[in-house]
Amino acid sequence: DSADVDREVDSVCPYCGVGCQLTFKVKDDKIAWVEGAEGPANENRLCVKGRFGFDYIHHPHRLTVPLIRKGGAPKGMNVDPGDWSTHFREASWDEALDAAANGLKGRGREAAGFGSAKCSNEEAYLFQKLIRQGFGHNNVDHCTRLCHASSVAALLENIGSGAVTATFNEIENADVAMVIGANPTENHPVAATYFKQFAKRGGQLIVMDPRAQGLKRHASHMLQFKPGGDVAMLNAIMHVIVDEELYDRQYIAAMTENWDAMKAHLEDFPPEKMAEHCGIPAEMLRDVARVWAGAKAGMIFWGMGVSQHVHGTDNSRCLISLALMCGHVGRPGTGLHPLRGQNNVQGASDAGLIPMFLPDYRSVTDDGVRSAFEEIWGTGGIGAEKGLTVVEIMDAIHASDIRAMYILGENPAMSDPDVDHARDALGKLDHLVVQDIFLTETAMFADVILPAAAWPEKTGTVTNTNRQVQMGRPAVPAPGEAREDWWITTQIARRLGLGWSYEHPREVFTEMKKGMASLDNITWERLEGEAVTYPSSGPEDPGAAIVFSDAFPRPEGRARFTPASILPPDEVPDAEYPMVLITGRQLEHWHTGAMTRRSSALDALEPEANCALHPRTLHRLGVAAGEMVRLSTRRGTVDVMARADRAVAEDTVFLPFAYVEAAANLLTNPALDPYGKIPEFKFSAVRVEAS
Ligand code: SF4
Repeated sequence: DSADVDREVDSVCPYCGVGCQLTFKVKDDKIAWVEGAEGPANENRLCVKGRFGFDYIHHPHRLTVPLIRKGGAPKGMNVDPGDWSTHFREASWDEALDAAANGLKGRGREAAGFGSAKCSNEEAYLFQKLIRQGFGHNNVDHCTRLCHASSVAALLENIGSGAVTATFNEIENADVAMVIGANPTENHPVAATYFKQFAKRGGQLIVMDPRAQGLKRHASHMLQFKPGGDVAMLNAIMHVIVDEELYDRQYIAAMTENWDAMKAHLEDFPPEKMAEHCGIPAEMLRDVARVWAGAKAGMIFWGMGVSQHVHGTDNSRCLISLALMCGHVGRPGTGLHPLRGQNNVQGASDAGLIPMFLPDYRSVTDDGVRSAFEEIWGTGGIGAEKGLTVVEIMDAIHASDIRAMYILGENPAMSDPDVDHARDALGKLDHLVVQDIFLTETAMFADVILPAAAWPEKTGTVTNTNRQVQMGRPAVPAPGEAREDWWITTQIARRLGLGWSYEHPREVFTEMKKGMASLDNITWERLEGEAVTYPSSGPEDPGAAIVFSDAFPRPEGRARFTPASILPPDEVPDAEYPMVLITGRQLEHWHTGAMTRRSSALDALEPEANCALHPRTLHRLGVAAGEMVRLSTRRGTVDVMARADRAVAEDTVFLPFAYVEAAANLLTNPALDPYGKIPEFKFSAVRVEAS
């Protein structure tokens, strides 16, 4: 009990975008256990990761000293993360920082950086500032590119803002909610508890996904559509709303533009014609349209199943239109909510860790915006061209246009599509600096490795999927010589001649506020006492749970309908690769597995790489559940244990991407959505056979 601990420290969970507040119970400078705290998003609740996923910070693999590659040691995936002495030698901080900075200095357009959505807002801000100020261009990105970049592209285009219009907790005021391309019981588990409560109270929960899932049991409607059939399905639902005149004329007239073009476009998508495309019977599509349009208040939640397609932006355009045509934005119980993945992907994006935007999504191509930041930073020379995105940077390395990188807390050697291509690129760099808590697969290619503090060891703010800005506090000291990321980035900046002098994240936050109107009325001191949702209208205002009640941040205050046509997946199944591969996460494991596979409880629950196949598919292959199968695509081959799972369709295989020994991204397709530049992780043609 609490009497047994030395101290209790309130902070925020380091895993998903729900942003649960928690209390670390610390004994002998170790986290003994964790309890949920009374945060605005979680009200004391935690999932298995938040409650049991913390001993990774005490794992013997933690990096505790700066490392420099030994002369002649080959770069590649052949380093034991627990015994790096074969490839690296210890260095002092001064030597390692000098080496890191010297290899980056003067690179100009040949340098690029990946920051992290697992660091604080202040660290994300500093990282993008370093690349922009230090190299005069915008080649800086982070995992939002692999996550919700297409959703943000559609939201900015059509409602003028990339963040959610309502917190997920607003579902308590809704009578209908759609959850599409998301699996909240596994990926946003505490948010899912609110969704289940909503259904128990009688709310109609419409779940749409190519896989069945835990929420199905609570759903009034389950639409298990064909992979890639989403635009057809959503257009068909909207067709019915137009055809039966169920739309909200008053709202459309007052708040939107381009309705006539949208209406005309939707004529081509009757449910009877679309049923074949999406695999959902016309009558079900009609029923869903009537339920949605007949609701007093409806919300839409979506995840990577929507965004990670070559038509990801089109998917989000459809969802935005669906909400607008029924007036389901800007009132209690209504809203558009892309469920953010990482704990700080919202905040890192807000802070400008994006190649086309300075902080607060202000365009790098706008002269006035650049001068405003040049004035705040006291320097000139911010690049006027949009920078390269995650996948484009890997291509630019292959083309020898980029030769040096600084990577903070990202693991592209596991997370990029067609990961052999990404690993080859990392191996080609003249100079790679990696800053992380473990010797990740990406760090295996580094010239210099800088040991960072983990989230429970540092101070900083984070912003969750609800736009709630919250304070993270250090519970335990960082091991050995590991240091906080903001400190390391500052030291590199100083060596690049940028003259930085930050001594505490508070100073960084104060500077951020100068260029970010979204942080008006939110101060460091305030955040030490409470979470604040942006926008906040005054020092006492906890912030707006719902935005855009009377105007959108677009010309004339109007949101826009942007029609979307059906774009087939980049690669469709054929005789050689007849099935569809879908990748994603599991409840127990987080992204590339660096943290959760080193958390004893989580690793014990899910210790082995696995894929999910329908029992009839296993039977057809002559494979029993628990045996190995071989998955092959045009890019690679993976051997992995098969599980029987009726949630996947018979022509589909689901593969989590957390396991290095069966890395899903050896298989995935790097084709990009043209607007959001997000790869098509959710659809690859695959062959499955007994291994
Ligand atoms: Fe952490 Fe997300 Fe689980 Fe909450 S729901 S405890 S933020 S992983």
